[in-house]
Amino acid sequence: MLLDVRRLFNRYDGPIHCEETVDLTGEDFPGYTLAGPVHAVFSAVLHGAVLELEYQAVVVLQFECARCLSECTREFSFSETFAIREADLNDEDAELTFTPEGRLDTKALLYTEVVLHVPPVLVCREDCAGLCPVCGCRKPCSCKHETSGGAVDERLAILQQLLSE
Ligand SMILES: [Zn+2]
Ligand SMILES: [Zn+2]
Repeated sequence: MLLDVRRLFNRYDGPIHCEETVDLTGEDFPGYTLAGPVHAVFSAVLHGAVLELEYQAVVVLQFECARCLSECTREFSFSETFAIREADLNDEDAELTFTPEGRLDTKALLYTEVVLHVPPVLVCREDCAGLCPVCGCRKPCSCKHETSGGAVDERLAILQQLLSE
């Protein structure tokens, strides 16, 4: 969708609310993919000289847990509010990028926003204990050599096992 922001400054008829579903599943994302389209709700309200643009979006992420490597899908919600001034429409350094006609490409915006909001490290659950370095299974595992200590202890345990053989 191309949101005609310049027109909102030129002729404002009251707040705008719109919804959009954008397919970004073919795009590249760092460390995850999108399992479905992004659903977003936009609103734009002019407060004096400032246009307040707000969105709330939701998407389903598909990723490998950074600790236990299991495949996960999770719904992820994100939102943001931007304060736009008319001068921003022609300003390359403004927070948002507009077309030469002063329009906002919401698909490009949502792509950038997904990249900005999704955390760099994704885990299946906050307390995921990861993989056992001895047997390679997801912890807690049934392996006898697992210790309650940290990774260093576990590496020593492997050494001890090797020496005793
Ligand atoms: Zn995990
Ligand atoms: Zn184990």
